[in-house]
Amino acid sequence: MLFRRKLLAWARRKGRHFFWREPGLTPYAALVTEILLTKTRAELVATVAKQILERYPSPPDLACASPNELEAMLFPLGLHRKRAAGLVACAQYVMEAHGGAIPTTIEELIELPSVGRYAANAIVCVVFDQQVAVLDANVSRIYQRFFSLPEPPERLATAHDLWAVAARLLPPRKAKQFNWAILDLGGLICTAKAPACTVCPLVKNCDRFGVPPSTRSRPNSSAR
Ligand code: SF4
Repeated sequence: MLFRRKLLAWARRKGRHFFWREPGLTPYAALVTEILLTKTRAELVATVAKQILERYPSPPDLACASPNELEAMLFPLGLHRKRAAGLVACAQYVMEAHGGAIPTTIEELIELPSVGRYAANAIVCVVFDQQVAVLDANVSRIYQRFFSLPEPPERLATAHDLWAVAARLLPPRKAKQFNWAILDLGGLICTAKAPACTVCPLVKNCDRFGVPPSTRSRPNSSAR
């Protein structure tokens, strides 16, 4: 599939490097990092996540964190009170319901406070090598533009469509690389306000690029 090949080739040259993409990431580190990454730029999260994992290296440490101290560490990300309360609640739930072990299934992870479908899928993909897609605002935007899918993304039917597209595009045995690549494209090239279409690896097949809105039609996404 052209979409995958072009995206993966681009990511090999231009993909971003973060500590949570290095081998040996623990389930706990993945959990904390993915919670922080939800609706937040990865570049901003990198420093803060590292500090939190050093200060609270395990679920029991985080479950007992001082709210003031944690809020101060989270301040650069915004919504620091809400994020601090969410992280502590999540760690406490892990302690109470799972004896301090991070759950290994999407169904169990989604039950944790502050963990949504995106974070749950990202955790099992990165740490447990499960072949599942991720979908956040950046990835949704790419699919909506590339395949001319209807907006707004909040509509249930559209969200369902987007998860189906994401699952269909996933290459066999390369979910992790593909997910990182599509996240990087959304963060670096297909940005919300100023997509850099002229340097995008998908430009030749993208419905959005150079096509007047009135002439766009909904395509069969499986055809690419
Ligand atoms: S060509 Fe432009 S709109 Fe299409 S995926 Fe690339 S950056 Fe996004």
